[in-house]
Amino acid sequence: MLDSEAVGLPAETRELRREVREFLAAERAAGTVLGRPDSWLTGWDPEFSRRLAARGWVGMALPREYGGHGRGNLERYVVIEELLAAGAPVSAHWVADRQAGPSILRHGTDAQRRRYLPAIAAGECFFSIGMSEREAGSDLAAVRTRAERTDSGWRLNGTKMWTGGAHVNHYAIVLARTAESTDRHAGLSQFVVDLRAPGVRVEPIRLLSGEHTFNYLHLAGVELAEDALLGRPGDGWRQVTGELALERSGPERFLSTLPLLTALVAELRRGACGSEQHARVGRLTARLAAIRQLSLGVAAALEAGRAADVQAALVKDLGTRFEGELVNEAREILPVPARSDATRGSYPELLATAVLHSPGYTLRGGTNEILRGIITRGLEAAR
Ligand SMILES: Cc1cc2nc3c(=O)[nH]c(=O)nc-3n(C[C@H](O)[C@H](O)[C@H](O)COP(=O)(O)OP(=O)(O)OC[C@H]3O[C@@H](n4cnc5c(N)ncnc54)[C@H](O)[C@@H]3O)c2cc1C
Repeated sequence: MLDSEAVGLPAETRELRREVREFLAAERAAGTVLGRPDSWLTGWDPEFSRRLAARGWVGMALPREYGGHGRGNLERYVVIEELLAAGAPVSAHWVADRQAGPSILRHGTDAQRRRYLPAIAAGECFFSIGMSEREAGSDLAAVRTRAERTDSGWRLNGTKMWTGGAHVNHYAIVLARTAESTDRHAGLSQFVVDLRAPGVRVEPIRLLSGEHTFNYLHLAGVELAEDALLGRPGDGWRQVTGELALERSGPERFLSTLPLLTALVAELRRGACGSEQHARVGRLTARLAAIRQLSLGVAAALEAGRAADVQAALVKDLGTRFEGELVNEAREILPVPARSDATRGSYPELLATAVLHSPGYTLRGGTNEILRGIITRGLEAAR
């Protein structure tokens, strides 16, 4: 059940890791990488994304034929692990690289692949996720956004919620109901929606920190051409489930607060570090290492084409709880006032950011309660 055999990364990835670290050291020296928690969600820096893409580290696992680099998931894992550990500003291309690209590759027409994938791999085309709605969060099949047929395509009406980056990205992949059915999972479809199209209105939802990352995405009679449909009408549920597996399985589900741990260790190194502090940091590091091994098992399983949904759900549950607990531990190990107005990148400022972001860790990408349901069903099926 747990894919823990295939946890070693191939030796070739060592050189790649060295290259990424070298790149990040130069970026850090230039002041573009500040080691921030949650940088995959709030670190929006399109220029950084383009520089990364120029090194071949965006769309890494997409085929060369579509502008990608034809490198495997394990190589991609090494790159994103380094970026997250460094707290690099990767949110501009994150969703495009992680799920929109692979989803378009899998379900899109050849014309859609040629239109979007090379631009994604070049760090020129950024996507948002348009799944959630106010009355249908965990119960995604209850979405009310509707797309109805027109002479030239589709007309979209509804409101999405929590749409990360909709105010700055180019497109959202929107889940909408296209047909009524007694089976709630039938009759759903996905559409690629241009976020600047007439009828699209973005309304900010501010984080506790005041940052504007998320939005309501109002869709009022948005006219879509026929080729906005992604995949086959009615296949939306199958498609989003596949996408959610990608959304939930990556190292961003346990590394979001790693920069805080790094800053904590640096602070402890500077001052006197007692044995209790030492032991607590050791325990955190040991947990992190164990979760990473499980996560690598997911990456290796995906690389080998094996299903890893249950293990990915487990990693997300363990990982996101770790992210929040790390913040609380840090507050106790080195109790200083968390201050949003402290020097950017300093320990008190990173602590303030991480504390204010904490409530979202176990919610985003599917709540832990829902994931535990998936784990339970998986365990029962495996008996
Ligand atoms: C920071 C952040 C970023 C996000 N980014 C995006 C995004 O970019 N795009 C997007 O589409 N969505 C996004 N989301 C939405 C996210 O996926 C949803 O918040 C999540 O799926 C839960 O939905 P909800 O908030 O409506 O909670 P609800 O579904 O209303 O759940 C409320 C509580 O009830 C529990 N619950 C619900 N049903 C069950 C059940 N059957 N069994 C046990 N417990 C249950 C939940 O676990 C939760 O604790 C984001 C959310 C956050 C917080």
